[in-house]
Amino acid sequence: MNLIRLMLLGLLSFQANWVFADVPVAESFGKTNRGEDVELYTLENESGMVVKVMTRGATIVQWWAPDASGTAEDVTLGFDDVAGYESEGNQYFGNVTGRVCNRIALGKFTLDGSDYSLAINNGPNHLHGGVERSLDKVVWKARPFSASDGHGVKFTYTSPDCEEGYPGNLAITLKYFLFKAENRLAVYYSATTDKATPVNLTNHTYFNLGGEGSETVLDHVLQLNANQYTPCDDTLIPTGEIADVAGTDLDFREPTAVGDRIENLTATPSLGYDHNFVLNQPESGQETRMAAVLFEPKSGRRLRIDTTEPGVQFYSGNFLNGQKGKGGKPYAHRSALCLETQHYPDSVHHENFPTTILQPGETFESTTIYSFSTE
Ligand code: BGC
Repeated sequence: MNLIRLMLLGLLSFQANWVFADVPVAESFGKTNRGEDVELYTLENESGMVVKVMTRGATIVQWWAPDASGTAEDVTLGFDDVAGYESEGNQYFGNVTGRVCNRIALGKFTLDGSDYSLAINNGPNHLHGGVERSLDKVVWKARPFSASDGHGVKFTYTSPDCEEGYPGNLAITLKYFLFKAENRLAVYYSATTDKATPVNLTNHTYFNLGGEGSETVLDHVLQLNANQYTPCDDTLIPTGEIADVAGTDLDFREPTAVGDRIENLTATPSLGYDHNFVLNQPESGQETRMAAVLFEPKSGRRLRIDTTEPGVQFYSGNFLNGQKGKGGKPYAHRSALCLETQHYPDSVHHENFPTTILQPGETFESTTIYSFSTE
């Protein structure tokens, strides 16, 4: 009897070790249309969170979070295979976005006396780093690692001088780290260059805290730690003004349902929320500040985002158009939202915005932390 019990205990502890592998395990996710191998890494912890990241675009492919009763669901939009990510239906689902995320007016800028021209891929403007080899479309090198409080994957990619029109060889490191005991994912970015160049990196995850494929995010309650925002022209380029949110439909200083005022914005070029919010300063001695808290009442899932970045683009999924995602589920208009921590859009043309120019010898560093809880 005792022997059987001992054997059972041995089997159980073996399984526990096996389930929480020391370093994230890799599997093949297929090939790109250029024939490159793509790998998928599984990060998991002891509190029911599973995050799957792939080497194409250093993309978060799945993000499973428990609800108030402990049932985990995937809360991010995406596809089942690489072909899905390469299809027109992919509107930057889950990936790292850059070299410069968001828009650059007319795709032009001047730096150190040289003029640079970038791809025009959003009305008259440049969006999210370009068309062919923006950071979401290239395959990154990956190295899994573990630490005493969790494990992660370190992605690296060196974007060569002139890639997508940007100056300088830009060496980028991106680490995803999932904490073992808390449902918290930290994303650490760093980059160096050999020529002055603009850099603005974000993660473009589309969240629906009720589970991806749920109908809408209009019932999600959002709080943004922002007293101000950057008003835009008709092509979503900032005018340069920094305006107060008080008295506008952009006032999320108190928790407010996304759907409460969104219809007031349908006549604007953004067709809903697609705005850069100027985050309030971190408390003294802190490097990160709270950017946003998002709550979904039915599941009880709550997501808090903290960041070192000065802004967050809140995009309410206005251009989702029913494309078929994971399991063939349609992703309807406003069925997910993005909270993209970043520097302000088109910073290269606005001296009053925090600079996005990285100089040789400097290191670009940025951290964003996603903490899930339930109530
Ligand atoms: C932009 C949206 C855009 C979306 C997908 C967001 O970051 O602000 O305007 O439609 O990305 O490309």
